[in-house]
Amino acid sequence: MSRRPSGHSTRAVHAGERQETPRQGVAVPIHQTAPYRFDSAAELAGAMEAPGQEAIYSRNANPSVRAVEEKIAALEGAEDARAFASGMAAIAATLSTVLASGDGLLCSTDVYGGTSAWLDWLTRRHPEVPVERSSLADLPARLEGGVPEGIRAVFVETPANPLLGCCDLERVAAACRPRGLTLVVDNTFATPILQRPLELGASVVLHSATKFLAGHSDVTAGLVAGDAETVARFDETRRLGGGVLDPHAAFLVGRGMKTLALRMERHSANAARLAELLAGHPAVERVHYPGRDPIGSRQMSAGGGMVSFVVRGGWPAASRVMDRLEVFAIIPSLGGVESGVSSPAITSHRHLTAQERAAAGIDEGLLRLSVGIEDGDDLAADLERALDGV
Ligand code: PLP
Repeated sequence: MSRRPSGHSTRAVHAGERQETPRQGVAVPIHQTAPYRFDSAAELAGAMEAPGQEAIYSRNANPSVRAVEEKIAALEGAEDARAFASGMAAIAATLSTVLASGDGLLCSTDVYGGTSAWLDWLTRRHPEVPVERSSLADLPARLEGGVPEGIRAVFVETPANPLLGCCDLERVAAACRPRGLTLVVDNTFATPILQRPLELGASVVLHSATKFLAGHSDVTAGLVAGDAETVARFDETRRLGGGVLDPHAAFLVGRGMKTLALRMERHSANAARLAELLAGHPAVERVHYPGRDPIGSRQMSAGGGMVSFVVRGGWPAASRVMDRLEVFAIIPSLGGVESGVSSPAITSHRHLTAQERAAAGIDEGLLRLSVGIEDGDDLAADLERALDGV
């Protein structure tokens, strides 16, 4: 500035606003800025030529967000990735990107309740987008038998919420490829540490990074990864839709991801032990765990941190177990370092009638555990004590 500013407000806004550091920090800085500053009009004009890649405005691109995108791409074996404000923002952006007007979707019935609700909303608002549903078990044969006219993409969640059913991705991908179908896989429950859908033939893999990837239950985020050409198509969807990840949230996701492999190892060891305990307990009718599923145990390198089980005696017994647990908190989410218990009958599937829940395989006594990284002995003792009481 040619004249030294003397006003308090001007000095308060501009003094100290330099960002050069003598050397690089170990952690990627939190680039907590919405717009970027340019040295000249020509520099701004040049940057505007590639708004998806340049740091112009953080809805287009931001270095803290980019660091997380590079991390998930490296873990999933993808060419590129994009980050979103939540898992649902990632799902909405994915379907808006891969489906054009009139294109239909084949989706497995066992998906997160929010995904189902979004698809219901889509078909109500846009009846021209046909959405077909298929059970996880029937999906491969359904695709091999030929898909209905107009279907352009397939959406699968595996392991699926809340019964933890697993789908043979290699078989589904092999059926999608010759038919030109885009296969989208929600890999939230397995994470790339345990399962890599792109290597099995999927076109796009996505995550609610709110769960295991960030891992500390303190941020919402979504990630999408795939080949460079497909991922580049997400830039316009994100820039216009606006569901971008905040730089501070990106820092939390990136920090969590640094310990993902270690956490998944402990989540899986603890959950496998509890699945075994539950399977032998007289108060338990059924146990669902990917490590006990033939497809899950072949496709994943470990069973993961999610276990579901049916308590004998329906909702009265299940709610007693929830209330008696002490280390497990009642948490309607999953994937954090802390253990949690939830009931699909009163959360994701509460809007269904008892008959509809039964048809979907959701027993009133079904409980879903998100097994954390605490000491296995403490978790086993807590669960056993709660079950012995019913
Ligand atoms: N996918 C799965 C498998 C989930 O469990 C969830 C949320 O629970 C989502 C997507 C949506 O993610 P978010 O809550 O981050 O929007």
